[in-house]
This record gives sequence, structure tokens and C-alpha cells, in this order.
Amino acid sequence: MKIVRWLHIPFVLVALCLGFATIPAAQGQELDYGLKPQKVAENTWLLIGRNEDFTLKNGGNIVNTGFIVTSAGVVVIDTGPSRLYGEQMLRAIAKITDKPVIKVFNTHHHPDHYLGNQSFAGVKIAALAETIREQISDGGAFTDNVYRMSGDWIKGTESTPAKEPVQAGRQQFGDHELELLSLHGHTSADMAILDHRTGVLFAGDLVFHDRAATTPHAVIQHWLATLDRLENTPFQLLVPGHGAPVTDQRAIRQTRDYLLWVDRAMREATTSGEEMAELIARPIPAEFAGIALAAEEFARSVAHLYRRYEAETFKPTPKPTPKPTAR
Ligand SMILES: [Zn+2]
Repeated sequence: MKIVRWLHIPFVLVALCLGFATIPAAQGQELDYGLKPQKVAENTWLLIGRNEDFTLKNGGNIVNTGFIVTSAGVVVIDTGPSRLYGEQMLRAIAKITDKPVIKVFNTHHHPDHYLGNQSFAGVKIAALAETIREQISDGGAFTDNVYRMSGDWIKGTESTPAKEPVQAGRQQFGDHELELLSLHGHTSADMAILDHRTGVLFAGDLVFHDRAATTPHAVIQHWLATLDRLENTPFQLLVPGHGAPVTDQRAIRQTRDYLLWVDRAMREATTSGEEMAELIARPIPAEFAGIALAAEEFARSVAHLYRRYEAETFKPTPKPTPKPTAR
């Protein structure tokens, strides 16, 4: 029975990939991301991406990036999906301030958050050590994959990993003190950044808002524990990796509820022997109707996580240690 079930996996994976392969290349369009910084707190601007997947039309402008204009210079948080985005981000920053960019932080190693690094030549780019390792190991494949989905927007983009490993702790940048939080769950290394001057918490992809969470490198149990920690972190404004910023716990709770549902569905399916294709076909609960890409991301999550949950379900229970013989 188990063999029959595995036969469905290649089919599902191929079906998921076909969507990318059949998109024609973008031709002759003006490649302008239209980045318009939105001021959300003192000295703090965001470039808010669309709650969409990578397409030829959006060029990967699906992510939130930000920058803080400190008295010592500009601190950038995430650099977007391409060299071109990085260039246009720098131009958008230059319209706000003539101060130089003095530091870039990458919240994690996913391509929509860091492939713009390439345009920040000469700037110190920092990330958690594990993030840097993953940028080095996965960056080439990520770039190829993103190119397949967004075509010309990504042309000339090369993975440029961060060079400066950082740890949890506080760092002063002029008149802003930033606290780096070393977390994990969405990936094996997720950095959140809390600006103690403004109370803005850059949560990276630990929090999604009105956009389904992505799970290719997630460990959901770790992620849930991290969300508890973020919920207990006092902030004035939370900037999710995807979706509109919020002043309350809404986005954290939404991310948690969605992940709990994914986790429960995976456990139920692997325990009852429900096949991947059936699980993917499950209706999305009404409470997640307002979350963009829920059906698509759920299908991907099943493809990424099903084997792992199945392995856990069928893990042989350890034999009890024999009791010492009574003499
Ligand atoms: Zn991510």
C-alpha cells in the first residue's frame, strides 16, 4: 500500500512545476519595479511587495524590504529578489536621503529577500552564520529557479551571500539601537530585528500577513515556538516578510493558525493513509479564505513535508528495555 502511495509523489511534483515551465519569456517591457518607499515610523521606510507568487509580470516584487535612516547612515533590511531590485531600491533610498548605506541585514536565505545584495557592492552585508552557509549552498539553484519564474527581471542576478556573520544582540547605528533576534522555524536561521528607538519589529518570513506561509525549509513545531516568542516581544509596528504591517498581534496569530492547520492536516493524513493528491485536494477552511495563495502554498507544503510527517508516523517505536531478571 505504501508503494502505491509513493507513485503519486512524482506526479504531484511534476504538476506543481509545470506552472513555471509553460510561462513564456517576458519581452520588451519596461522593467521598473515602481518601488515607492512608505514611511511607517520615524526614519523608517518600507517597500511593500505584492501578496503574490513570483511571476513574469511582478518580477518577484512580492516581498517587504525596509530601510532606516540613522544619523550614522542607512541600514537596509533585506534587498529583494534580483540585482535590478537592489539597484532600484538604492535609487529609491537616494530620493529620501543623501546618506550612504552603511549596513545591510538579510533576515534569512530565501531568494526574494537577498538576491538584491549584488547591487550593494562595498556595503557590509550581515546575516546569521547559518543563513550565510545556506546562501552559499542554495544560492545558485535559487537564482536559476527565480529566473525561470520571472525571466528578464532576474537577468544578470548572481547570488551574493552576506559576508559578515552576526549573533543575537544589540548594535548601535547612530541614533538607532537595533536588537538582532536569532530565531528559526521558517528556515534553520531566521533573524528578526527590533528597533528600540521606534519599536518597529522586522519579523522577516517568521510572519506572513494575508498571504499563506511558505514552508520549503520549515520545521513547523520550531516555527510555532518562535511565534510565541515574537508574541511576547513588545513592538509598536510589526513588519511581516509578506503582507501589510500591523500594530497588533493579528499577523502573528494568523500565521500560527494557518501553520497549526497545515500541521494537523499532515498528521491526520499520514496517520490515516490519505494520499498526497487527496490531501492537496482538501478544501481550504473558511477562516483562511482571505489569505492569498492558501491553496497553492498548501499544495507545496504537502509536497515538501509529506514524507517527513509520514516518516515520523511510521517511525518504529523503540523496543522496551527488558526488565532485569529477578534472582
Ligand atoms: Zn522566506
